[in-house]
Amino acid sequence: MTVGIVGAGQLGRMLALAGYPLGLDFLFFDRTADAPAGQIAPLLTGEFTDARRLAQLGRRAEVVTFDWENVPAAALRTLSRHTRICPPAAALAAAQDRVSEKRLFERLKIPTTRWHAVSSRAQLARALREVGLPGVLKTRRLGYDGKGQQVLRTLADAERAWQELGDAPLIYEELVRFDLEVSLIAVRARDGTIATYPLNRNVHAGGILRLTRAPYGSQPLQREAARSVRRILEHFGYVGVLAVEFFVRAGRLIANEMAPRVHNSGHWTIEGAVTSQFENHLRAICGLPLGSTRALGHSAMINLIGTLPDRSALLGEAGLHLHEYGKAPRPGRKLGHCTLVEASARARDARARRLLTELAPEIRIP
Ligand code: AMP
Repeated sequence: MTVGIVGAGQLGRMLALAGYPLGLDFLFFDRTADAPAGQIAPLLTGEFTDARRLAQLGRRAEVVTFDWENVPAAALRTLSRHTRICPPAAALAAAQDRVSEKRLFERLKIPTTRWHAVSSRAQLARALREVGLPGVLKTRRLGYDGKGQQVLRTLADAERAWQELGDAPLIYEELVRFDLEVSLIAVRARDGTIATYPLNRNVHAGGILRLTRAPYGSQPLQREAARSVRRILEHFGYVGVLAVEFFVRAGRLIANEMAPRVHNSGHWTIEGAVTSQFENHLRAICGLPLGSTRALGHSAMINLIGTLPDRSALLGEAGLHLHEYGKAPRPGRKLGHCTLVEASARARDARARRLLTELAPEIRIP
């Protein structure tokens, strides 16, 4: 069975690495020939608007999935004429636009930040009046890893941000003074079965995920997150892995955003759970039974960003798992990650703290 994957980044690469032992084949589609998944699987190259190439992918794959959710709607329509698309195109469309994402959360009664759509100076002024300062101005589309967003604390900030971002449709939302950030990864099978991983506690810097620890949190928090994610999965008749990021403020969850794909905060599941998020995504979209999402210990995942540390120094750490993505170094670029799995949260945090002083001294473990 051939799985088609649009986007051949590290997520796609880890999907293929998880799928080969199951006997699956892969065919990727990306704009560039040197994309990380192209190093381990066949790759078609072309623009995401290239209907002929997309049709080729659709004809050769029994199911098509995504490692990049910003595929244009027209491309999704082309693909759907030839093959099955998982997760559903409607879920991708909702996640592509921060305003439709907020509306979805509100429709499904999932608490989210206060927000206002902004596509003119007048609307920005209204948003500032209604939502107040401080806040975050974000592009509605194509933002990732903190790109296309600015924190506004003063009216002068608002003017500067408008000069920079104002050409694109925007959203303004309250700046949440959160206690911490978490994410939940869940998977829904074709028969409607849902499995949920333990909550991840995430630390971002400059909008980029740096550290994830799991399992995190109390049973009530886990249940509250699972209820929200279940509503989204059922709303779309979703098939595959879905990740939802939340702020935690005073013990309550506030949804920030969702990703209709495997997620960076779930990388620890490769070694730290019975079945990884990558394998479970493939099991779901191929109509296979889901695997257990139980954690095998206490995991910490640290992203390797901008430059790669010395490989042999890292591998000298007992039990450390290294994943390099085959990407050229560039400031702010995710080049790899490493994961530790320990028997207790204390032991994990002690080791993670020590590793962070070398890998990311600016990150403090809360
Ligand atoms: P996003 O691309 O929306 O996930 O934003 C990336 C990161 O920026 C989040 O994980 C937060 O750390 C921070 N951030 C984004 N939006 C807000 C907000 N409304 N309030 C506080 N922090 C935010």
